Amino acid sequence: MKKITLIKGDGIGPEVTACAKKVLDLLVDDLIWTEVSAGLETLEKYGELIPKAVFDSIEETRLVLKGPLTTPIGEGFRSINVMLRKKYDLFCNMRPALTIPGVVSRYEAIDLVIFRENTEDLYAGIESRTDEDTRHSIKVITRKGSTRIIKAAFEYALAHNRHKVTLVHKANIMKETDGLFLQVGREIAKAYPDIVFEGIIVDNMCMQLVMNPHQFDVIVTMNLYGDILSDLCAGLVGGLGVVSSANIGDNFALFEPVHGSAPDIAGKNIANPIAMLLSGAMLLEYIGYYNEGKALRTAIQEVLKDPSNHTTDLGGKCKTDAFTDAVCKAIAIGG
Ligand code: ATP
Repeated sequence: MKKITLIKGDGIGPEVTACAKKVLDLLVDDLIWTEVSAGLETLEKYGELIPKAVFDSIEETRLVLKGPLTTPIGEGFRSINVMLRKKYDLFCNMRPALTIPGVVSRYEAIDLVIFRENTEDLYAGIESRTDEDTRHSIKVITRKGSTRIIKAAFEYALAHNRHKVTLVHKANIMKETDGLFLQVGREIAKAYPDIVFEGIIVDNMCMQLVMNPHQFDVIVTMNLYGDILSDLCAGLVGGLGVVSSANIGDNFALFEPVHGSAPDIAGKNIANPIAMLLSGAMLLEYIGYYNEGKALRTAIQEVLKDPSNHTTDLGGKCKTDAFTDAVCKAIAIGG
């Protein structure tokens, strides 16, 4: 038996989380869900952006599957997502960018994993106005924060037979902050002699990723660069509809798609649920259901072999619920 907090989220969140719950329940029969509401719609209905019940549930289950949340402007904190990552110290944001056979994209056989530090950097939220025309934002990088994310990247590389870790920085300009991150990376790399380590400046990294993404393997970087690079990598494998993420700390873990609430397509039954489903696969693997996670990935690949199962973002006409049914059928056939 495993308890999971399910946050449906805003926009396309309810559609894609309903799909994920249905599919995960088919794969594992002892998941106990606590469904809680948060976000813009919750604020409109109940006057609270994140009701206490959400925190209570997360603190009980310590495991969250979450749809995208919208933070209205002027609500006290800049982003609910950033707040949850900080509150539960979910320092490790892991974002795989993996080619899914059947999804048409510019490149073939991409298999990258980004480790993004999730709690520091310009996301520390330390901003001020010195006068009406001057604004400051403080970048915070610590040895502790750098060490734990870089170690997580190396440990992942070791456990998954990955050959290289690329650390992305701008230490030529931000000599103190990015300089510390790079220095910690160099120190940690010494403990992993079988894994190639390289540092690369973020602007060059963007160009290299577009020109020859296959030269990379595991990528580790700070919060803001990680945010930008993971969207770039999503573009390498077919877009936001197919990329998942895990936010992992020492005591809590939260799984969510990389995409936002997509208000332009919400409520139309046309959202691609693959990103949400793959986030569910990551959750299953995190709690030890490796075969079930694999079965879900295989089912998605099987379903995508038929272009009539492609959602609009992938160039097809398939609806969210029809895609969900096709995945359920593929799982049932796969046994
Ligand atoms: P937010 O501010 O919540 O991040 P956004 O509109 O800036 O929202 P996304 O919600 O990620 O960013 O959407 C970016 C684009 O990608 C939109 O055109 C959206 O429709 C599309 N998109 C995002 N997720 C999906 C999905 N699962 N299926 C299909 N299209 C998607």
